[in-house]
Amino acid sequence: MTKIRFEKSFTQQEGIPEEGIQLAIKLMRSGRLHRYNLEANEESQASLLEKEFSLWQGVKYCVACASGGYAIQLALRTCGVRLGDKVLANAYTLAPVPGAIHNVGAHPIFVEIDGNYHIDLFDLEKKATSSKAKFLLLSHMRGHIANMDKITEICQKNKLTMIEDCAHTMGSKWNGIRSGNFGKVSAFSTQTYKHINSGEGGFLTTNDAELAAKAVVSSGSYMLYERHGAIPSDKVFRNIRLEAPNYSGRMDQMRASILRSQLPKLEKNIKRWNILYDTLSEKLCEIDGITIPNRSKKESYVGSSIQFKVTNLDSESIPKFVKSCLSRGVDLKWFGDKEPKAFTSRYDSWTYIKNVPVLTKTLSVLEKTIDMRIPLTFSKEDCAIIAKIIGSEISQYNLNSSSR
Ligand SMILES: *Cc1c(COP(=O)(O)O)cnc(C)c1O
Repeated sequence: MTKIRFEKSFTQQEGIPEEGIQLAIKLMRSGRLHRYNLEANEESQASLLEKEFSLWQGVKYCVACASGGYAIQLALRTCGVRLGDKVLANAYTLAPVPGAIHNVGAHPIFVEIDGNYHIDLFDLEKKATSSKAKFLLLSHMRGHIANMDKITEICQKNKLTMIEDCAHTMGSKWNGIRSGNFGKVSAFSTQTYKHINSGEGGFLTTNDAELAAKAVVSSGSYMLYERHGAIPSDKVFRNIRLEAPNYSGRMDQMRASILRSQLPKLEKNIKRWNILYDTLSEKLCEIDGITIPNRSKKESYVGSSIQFKVTNLDSESIPKFVKSCLSRGVDLKWFGDKEPKAFTSRYDSWTYIKNVPVLTKTLSVLEKTIDMRIPLTFSKEDCAIIAKIIGSEISQYNLNSSSR
């Protein structure tokens, strides 16, 4: 019997909507690619995008940025993180997060994760007290939203300023409230593997007028800040415009135009993602030796990737299982790998950060965790094939390693 093979690419996103392509072509012909390089009475694409995104997100102010990592850095600076400050952060997140903390000269205090990939609430409280940190950079890593009622409470109790990293939760909600609307300031990414795609890009959002003005000027607006779409009044800018340093990191017209064409399709795409996610989740759960962590009823997620645990496999058989899935076209990532592949997500991979204690809980969760991207170019049928391949490959190793 020949084994079925999956042929599609796990890194193939959908193309840019035609309107976006046409607008980008027009911009290229005009040569006016900088967000402030406008004709008389022309509104910039970046400014329109900021307006549209802030409306969609339900937030007052929005600044389009060069990347998600840059937006995080700007968020940290504008909410007052200074040289030597401590910032609480998930021990499981993506490399640009500790990188942003390092870049502003602060020091991350890594907090354990729990079995559902959320920041561990007990460890968060413990470390908030012991470190005396005043900031929490909360990553909704891989789209998993922790109990935001409890986190908000912990932040209030410990006087922590919350900065949300919503790179994987654009469109997700907790208890009906959009992720990104809990903290003082939030960062989103529009890099290719997130929910809208401009290659690189990001947003900073906030309801705090002074913070927003600082972010606009620091993003590199010079004195042209009034050409932004979702900003506070001129008076707020007058107070800070010469005081906020220019950390040049603007978004350009091309990216803004291709994002504008995607935003109206986002709600529909979220539904499409979740059909794929739910199909995979249902089928993977039926497989012996695979578990998928519970998601709270209060969480409305966007299933653009899936994480599952291979409970019966040991660290020797997991790489073999991953390799045999890949030989059949199914591209999985193991977060427990000592040698990180493609991207780093575990605190012990960032060796520039010193004196980090061993976080046993995080390591033991990630030791069994497998991750898979779910591009929208997949169909429901594709998801069924993928689950079938995973099921047949894992069965060999389950038998070898378990005592059943
Ligand atoms: C992608 C991502 C970011 C930001 O990434 P950029 O590539 O800089 O846009 C931040 N946090 C997480 C968790 C991410 O996945």
